[in-house]
Amino acid sequence: MAPSEHRLLKFILPARAFAAVRTGTKLWLIECSCGQKRDYWDAGGVRYKAAGQPKTLARCSACGKLGMHRVRKKTEAERREMP
Ligand SMILES: [Zn+2]
Repeated sequence: MAPSEHRLLKFILPARAFAAVRTGTKLWLIECSCGQKRDYWDAGGVRYKAAGQPKTLARCSACGKLGMHRVRKKTEAERREMP
């Protein structure tokens, strides 16, 4: 997903709902097989009231490979690193 989808969300959702989606998505990160982790929201993702640990196709900013990234919830420490 591209960050442009965030602009669309902001356009169609009331401000409070947009903030809720942002907060929900900010609990997640995507992880490359090389170990690089990125904030899921900053990577253009949207995740709200969803369960499970899906995979998403993304290009890694560290190793430059296009591949499947794991989407998972941040740990406490990661939430402090990537608020
Ligand atoms: Zn990588």
